[in-house]
Amino acid sequence: MANTKTAIITGASSGIGQATAKELARKGYSVMLAARREDRLVQLKQEIEAMDGTAEIKVTDVTSADEMQALADAAIEKFGRIDVLVNNAGLMPLSFMNKRKIAEWDQMVDVNIKGVIYGIAAVLPQMEEQKSGHIINVASVAGHDVTPGSAVYSGTKFAVRAITEGLRQELDPAMDIRATIISPGAVATELSTHITDQDILDMFASGGEMKFLEAVDIARAISYAVEQPAYVDVNEILIRPRQQK
Ligand code: NDP
Repeated sequence: MANTKTAIITGASSGIGQATAKELARKGYSVMLAARREDRLVQLKQEIEAMDGTAEIKVTDVTSADEMQALADAAIEKFGRIDVLVNNAGLMPLSFMNKRKIAEWDQMVDVNIKGVIYGIAAVLPQMEEQKSGHIINVASVAGHDVTPGSAVYSGTKFAVRAITEGLRQELDPAMDIRATIISPGAVATELSTHITDQDILDMFASGGEMKFLEAVDIARAISYAVEQPAYVDVNEILIRPRQQK
């Protein structure tokens, strides 16, 4: 299939980002894979090429506005345009606030919030020039509900939802540029491996069994949002495992 559309995916080295890259490549998108772990990106590029897809990689730390701009520039250089940006990179080192894990709070603010706004800043001029584009920001059920241990993580994901909604309202209705929030519940990925607060780990260990979503379930939701006709604006998709409260 001819690759006519292009997508940048951050956090493509793992979990939801990796699955989304494969899903969009399968749908004919040329994908630009971004994350810090180059070996994982190289491996994913090879897997996509083995499926007859088109992929390029750009090692990127989303906490740097300059690196995010370089990512957008690389996509334009390789593919000529940017149809979709999936701001997916994120961290979730949950902890109780009295543990004062300030370095982890800083990381979450930097990756989960600043990464998203730097991504928007990097692609918006190109999308406005094209008069088309789609920005997908991955938030969370934790961007709707706060639970003990999720205060800062939830704060970052509430922010992602607010930023996306603000962007949506500001976008020129004369242009085909859209913004979508994807809010997953529990998905089986590496995300919980960042947790260092033993009380949170104990709380999770004592919780009941639940069938988590797979990363591909979220990839399909993202694919649904970007495949709608230009007059349809999917504002948000909230998707939980059936057994999650
Ligand atoms: P993973 O841990 O599997 O993937 C996280 C990705 O983020 C990795 O590819 C990682 O790549 C990337 N990343 C982290 N820090 C940076 C950085 N500074 N610069 C660039 N990339 C970075 O988790 P998920 O796939 O689950 O998470 C993806 C998104 O989904 C996150 O925003 C998360 O908050 C959200 N989410 C996940 C849920 C879940 O239950 N799994 C539920 C709700 C939302 P690398 O380390 O190579 O840089």
